[in-house]
Amino acid sequence: MSKIETQKSITETRRDQIFLALTPAELERMRRFGEYRSYDAGQALFKIGQRGHGLFVILSGSIDLVRDDEKDGRRAFQSPGPGSMIGELAQLAGRPPLVDGYAREPVCALHIPPERLRALLIAEAELGERIMRALILRRVGILEKGTGGPIIVGHVGDGDALRLKGFLSRNGHPYQWVNPDEDAEARALIERFHVDPGQLPIVLCPGGQLLRNPSELELARCIGMVGPIDPDHLYDVAIVGAGPAGLAAAVYAASEGLAAIVLDCRAFGGQAGASSRIENYLGFPTGISGMALMARAYTQAQKFGVETSIPAEVTCLEPENGDGRIVLRLSDGQRVSTRSVILACGAQYRRLTVESLDLFEAASVHYWASPLESKLCAGQEVVLVGGGNSAGQAAVYLAGKVEKVWLLVRGDDLASSMSNYLVERIAGLPNVEIVTRAEISGLEGTEGQLEAVRWRRRGSDEEVRRDIRHLFLFIGAAPNTEWLKDSGVVLDAKGFVLTGTDAGSDRRPLETSRRGVFAIGDVRAGSIKRVAAAVGEGAQVVATLHDFLVATGRRNDVAWPFARMAREPGAGLATSLQPVHDGAPSA
Ligand SMILES: Cc1cc2nc3c(=O)[nH]c(=O)nc-3n(C[C@H](O)[C@H](O)[C@H](O)COP(=O)(O)OP(=O)(O)OC[C@H]3O[C@@H](n4cnc5c(N)ncnc54)[C@H](O)[C@@H]3O)c2cc1C
Repeated sequence: MSKIETQKSITETRRDQIFLALTPAELERMRRFGEYRSYDAGQALFKIGQRGHGLFVILSGSIDLVRDDEKDGRRAFQSPGPGSMIGELAQLAGRPPLVDGYAREPVCALHIPPERLRALLIAEAELGERIMRALILRRVGILEKGTGGPIIVGHVGDGDALRLKGFLSRNGHPYQWVNPDEDAEARALIERFHVDPGQLPIVLCPGGQLLRNPSELELARCIGMVGPIDPDHLYDVAIVGAGPAGLAAAVYAASEGLAAIVLDCRAFGGQAGASSRIENYLGFPTGISGMALMARAYTQAQKFGVETSIPAEVTCLEPENGDGRIVLRLSDGQRVSTRSVILACGAQYRRLTVESLDLFEAASVHYWASPLESKLCAGQEVVLVGGGNSAGQAAVYLAGKVEKVWLLVRGDDLASSMSNYLVERIAGLPNVEIVTRAEISGLEGTEGQLEAVRWRRRGSDEEVRRDIRHLFLFIGAAPNTEWLKDSGVVLDAKGFVLTGTDAGSDRRPLETSRRGVFAIGDVRAGSIKRVAAAVGEGAQVVATLHDFLVATGRRNDVAWPFARMAREPGAGLATSLQPVHDGAPSA
């Protein structure tokens, strides 16, 4: 039997944690945070695409969970009954459920809306931990099975299909992918919707909408990953960037009662999310993948009630207008009003200055080495350019997935730019060949697909040419500060943000030249470019932020909602049985 066949799914190995058996005493404790609802047979409790639903606990009767399946079409796949807790990670932030839920028979349920669910998780330490674990494991199980979420129809190696799959997987959102070259269902979908081959990929959203090669923002809106931002709402702090620095600041700010929003143009995790194994982060002696570490941080931020908006690209920090409000403008024209801003926008990967790079960037040039990319080049030779730790990690990871890694380094050796443990690990990998003093001299290919890479060693005229379809670039990063032009935030000569006394003699630590605007992590001039340093600055900035908000009289006096709800969880909630006749559509 193969390894794959013997591997058990998370639903099998963690069944007890996923399907919680709630005791009557626990149900009683949960009751304080929710309200009873009753449903007629056939009535919908929740529907795909509708935001704002929280958790349901079935008290009597049973429901059908229904979803669209790539293979089996629309079908009920589970019918949970009394005692079952219905929901997964999306419900923590009020995002749309991934399935429909219909009453099979008359149903009575306890409904806990998202903000009260978060209050429950904080107020009920042990029960909260079990519920939180169940929500996380359910999402992991869905991702593992590859069920639910939008269906992407596109060819293998298509750059846009890869872009959309990368966006969803980096944001931990389930999706299904079908290839029309192999799958009759995919071809049937193309015919049914009269899709021209040039319009691929298409995305069939769970709500039934069809998108033709959408942008990430269009897709995110359609599946409810991102909703509109209230332009009149005044946040205590808006954090630009959901990398380790931004997420740390968000967790500390929200856990201390500040109303925080985090905006990121791509995905949570930032550069750290690209790391296949972080081995130097305190507390993880066996290492942890950047995605796993960052997914935990992202979930933690949501548990504390941080509002997250991804994708949301901040394009402008508007000039001061004298009323104490700071306004951020987004690429889609939306505005965010806030009392303070934390710049945690980090750095982005440098591109190689080689002709035609842009032609191959969609399908063949990668700035990440994750399972998505490694599947594309399984069994092939790849070229990886870079001599730093991020390149080293990627080489080690890819070596286990591909036929051979050509590691091209500009310097004379690896030791001068890479940590010793990685140098030694690479030395022990027979399928990694290090080429020192090397530079890419040319790329060849057709229709966006790389077919060959050429390189030269400094001081030699000889050019090496190899048939290579995938090129990985890990050649450092430049600060994401282009958008700060004209914002009043002073940068150093390399574009990093100046803070503290470097920005002005009366500036607080981590404060920029503009009052109320702070900078942390890789984007900050002089910062240590490490996950731990970014997280540390995220914690540190919140203390400074409090000081600023109090000194300027801008502290939001609205009582911390969790604290209030934990004290009086049932305030304003109906506790008697309430039939739902709120116009919810029936099946
Ligand atoms: C492959 C790789 C491996 C690494 N391995 C390690 C390691 O093992 N150990 C270690 O300590 N460090 C490692 N690092 C370095 C570490 O990841 C960074 O130091 C850390 O991620 C910096 O965190 P940050 O939050 O400051 O910025 P980033 O991680 O760069 O995050 C910034 C975020 O801001 C967003 N953003 C940028 N501009 C905007 C805008 N205008 N609007 C909205 N959002 C915006 C970006 O999308 C991004 O998500 C690695 C880096 C890479 C690339």
